[in-house]
Amino acid sequence: MEEEAIQGQVHCPVCDSDDICECIRIGQVPVYCNVLHETREAALGAPMGEMDLRFCAACGHLFNAAFDPARVDYSSEYENSLHYSGRFRAYARSLAEDLVQRHGLHGKTIIEIACGQGDFLALLCSLGGNRGIGFDPSHVPGRSEAVGGADLTFVQDYYSETYGDLKADLVCCRHALEHMANPGSFLSRVRRAIGKDSTAVFFEVPNALFTLRDLGIWDIIYEHCGYFCAGSLRAVFRRNGFSVKRIQSEFGGQFLALHASPGGCEDEVEAAAAPDLAQLVRGFAAHYRSKVETWRGTLRRLRADGRRTVLWGAGSKGVSFVNALAVSEEIGLLVDLNPHKDGRFVPGTGHRVRTPGYLADYRPDTVLVMNPLYEEEIRRDLQDMGLSPQILVDRPR
Ligand SMILES: [Zn+2]
Repeated sequence: MEEEAIQGQVHCPVCDSDDICECIRIGQVPVYCNVLHETREAALGAPMGEMDLRFCAACGHLFNAAFDPARVDYSSEYENSLHYSGRFRAYARSLAEDLVQRHGLHGKTIIEIACGQGDFLALLCSLGGNRGIGFDPSHVPGRSEAVGGADLTFVQDYYSETYGDLKADLVCCRHALEHMANPGSFLSRVRRAIGKDSTAVFFEVPNALFTLRDLGIWDIIYEHCGYFCAGSLRAVFRRNGFSVKRIQSEFGGQFLALHASPGGCEDEVEAAAAPDLAQLVRGFAAHYRSKVETWRGTLRRLRADGRRTVLWGAGSKGVSFVNALAVSEEIGLLVDLNPHKDGRFVPGTGHRVRTPGYLADYRPDTVLVMNPLYEEEIRRDLQDMGLSPQILVDRPR
């Protein structure tokens, strides 16, 4: 009995505290938001998982206590490139320029962990004449046009101290830490691989504060087992041998960017006034359900009025949205700029995904936009196609 109680005790994956409270349970979500399917049948039968989001009162970390890492395997089927959006490319470019300038990256070596198809690494290398080594088991050679010409090597594997003999001036990693059940052990492996070198370190993750405070609730997906706030992001780096130099929110508050160096020097990050996360967590489940209900009501009304509605963006936000609402014919299809998604089907609900060109014939009455940062770009694209549908934007609170 006692042993069972000990096993049932949930500890924070960042700071190991057992001061944990419940945040929200969400029954059935796709295990992979970023794997679209060849057929509707396969999409409807896609593996589903459970979210049991818990909050650590000690460090402010949110995590899915029901996450099973054995269910998630990032093979080459994994398609999470955001690079087809001009708005996202502009952000990536300004970030790359800042990194090159900040660390004097000219003729240097850069390692990117979880580099995807290598677009960001190619950008870093082309801006400073650098050499890039990208790690990602889901990398498909020859997929990206951006990587041609640059001095790039790709390793279709997870990064670890096995690759410790590869030395770099910058190690960067964007949107991967939130996928790891044990981010601390991953960071300690990165730290060991860097060794005594004076390597600069840059990580970027989704910002849990955007989810909790601004109700960016479509970012809650099974692949993301951890949700970092500035406090827990700082804690996980400090506990694993890094000095944190700077943490800032980026991309309209949706991301957290962390600059660090291998330990040995003091943190330079100032303690910002921390928002009352515990209070946000307490009200979150009610706010989440109310937001889902409001959208469900809106979509049912549109359907009853005979309006054709499409959702722009078949990334994690869009896939998460249709599954959270459990809608079917209320939404005709999902639109995505990424041509590799065209004709495929959304896990869970089975919606079809098409490229924007399809809309010229489809002529939607209403277009849903999940990320307000893409609104302007989407309006322009629709206008260029001679379309003027009603546009509904999911705005932060
Ligand atoms: Zn914690």
